[in-house]
Amino acid sequence: MKKLGLLGHPVSHSMSPKLFADKFSKAGRLDLEYLTYDLPEISDFNTFTANNPDIVALNVTTPHKESIIPYLSEIDEEAQAIGAVNTLLKANGKWMGYNTDGWGFRRSMQPFLRGRHESALIFGTGGAAKAVAYSLKTLGIACYFVSRTPEKQRQMSNVIGFNELTPEAIKHHLLLINCTPLGMEPDTDGCVQIPWQGVGKDHLVVDLVYNPDVTTFMTRAIEKGAEAMNGCDMLRLQAEKSWDIWLKNGL
Ligand code: NAP
Repeated sequence: MKKLGLLGHPVSHSMSPKLFADKFSKAGRLDLEYLTYDLPEISDFNTFTANNPDIVALNVTTPHKESIIPYLSEIDEEAQAIGAVNTLLKANGKWMGYNTDGWGFRRSMQPFLRGRHESALIFGTGGAAKAVAYSLKTLGIACYFVSRTPEKQRQMSNVIGFNELTPEAIKHHLLLINCTPLGMEPDTDGCVQIPWQGVGKDHLVVDLVYNPDVTTFMTRAIEKGAEAMNGCDMLRLQAEKSWDIWLKNGL
């Protein structure tokens, strides 16, 4: 049995095992099994893979999408440009890294984009936020990150603090994207703190969180007349792309 799985911390809430079990069953691949692997410290990656030689491919989730990079032999061009990896494949004993989040995000939200969505505020600065920013740039949409962490505001370009957000800034950026884990089961009341009076009917609000279906962030935006979508389509699409990469590379 070849093992695949999701590596992160925490991973117990993940929908990926069910998603991939369905894929394996449809493809008649009884030789594959997809599990979750909780790894609190990425510094344990080499020991973890050495102790689990049956693992041939992995998805990577929070908080390891960026910190995994030094442990890989090679990463592809898109993952390099984004600076984060969410898909791994073992080839000849070496781990290769790819990023399918950017592709999944772009494909999931493109049908909702209108000409007025020229600039975006991205809440969070982690691996998913970077993939979202990369995708939006390829679509010609300007991006600004919003962070609660002062070091990020110093280290990265185009980052402002939540305390700097004004209703005017919110009115100006008609695309608002939550790339933080706030609002995810079981903490479903969680939501970014923004000046909601700036949100209106021309806004498109995207929450990368996919559980629950309608998050507090989405509910608050819908109350202001905005259009809102969750991260379910992105989750499905990024998984499809991972599956394609694995199959093309001999899984
Ligand atoms: P990550 O690398 O851990 O980054 C999350 C970022 O959110 C952090 O960098 C942090 O930014 C911010 N953050 C964390 N806790 C916060 C809090 N309490 N208040 C405000 N900001 C907070 O995680 P990730 O991999 O980017 O994933 C982020 C979320 O997107 C997760 O919920 C994940 O499940 C979801 N996601 C969904 C999909 C999908 O397919 N739908 C794909 C990827 C990720 P600062 O320190 O700068 O504030």
